[in-house]
Amino acid sequence: MLEERLKSVIRDIPDFPKPGIVFKDITPILKDQQLCGEIVDQLVNYLQGIEIDAIAGVESRGFLFGMLLANRLDVPFIPIRKQGKLPFNTISESYKLEYGQATIEVHEDALAPGSKVLIHDDLLATGGTVVAASKLLEKLGADIIGYAFIISLDFLQSEGRLTRFSDRIISLAR
Ligand code: AMP
Repeated sequence: MLEERLKSVIRDIPDFPKPGIVFKDITPILKDQQLCGEIVDQLVNYLQGIEIDAIAGVESRGFLFGMLLANRLDVPFIPIRKQGKLPFNTISESYKLEYGQATIEVHEDALAPGSKVLIHDDLLATGGTVVAASKLLEKLGADIIGYAFIISLDFLQSEGRLTRFSDRIISLAR
């Protein structure tokens, strides 16, 4: 089963990047092109029959499968980046982290108002990142039609934070 294989391949790195955090390292997935293909197949499967105009991915690990998925669905990919990285005119959204705050940005011409956008990131933890991404894209008039993650840390029960944007929340492993 895909979920079991993902869980066995994703590596737990204790105390990275700081003490107390168990980092889920997805890089072993990238060494297995068969598994990468199955991830995209499964996401496409879940999204069958749903109208999607674009996939938005959050820097940086959200770019890996976000772009593959967009390409397979034959829709544009929208990169959401950390502050100061995108070269053209941007709009931004700030959000709270456990300690301090972060700002993400998107190009102001990234999408047409009314576009149906699915947001992808590798991992869902507290949901803060994708909530901020949702607010950011809504400023451009996006209609957030769902979320797709490779893995979600379910115990944090963060999915509830996303349902005010969309209750279509796909996660290949929990
Ligand atoms: P959050 O905003 O709390 O949902 O965190 C999600 C974002 O932070 C994603 O972009 C993840 O790549 C990253 N992240 C958070 N916690 C972890 C973790 N334990 N292992 C790997 N990445 C994480």
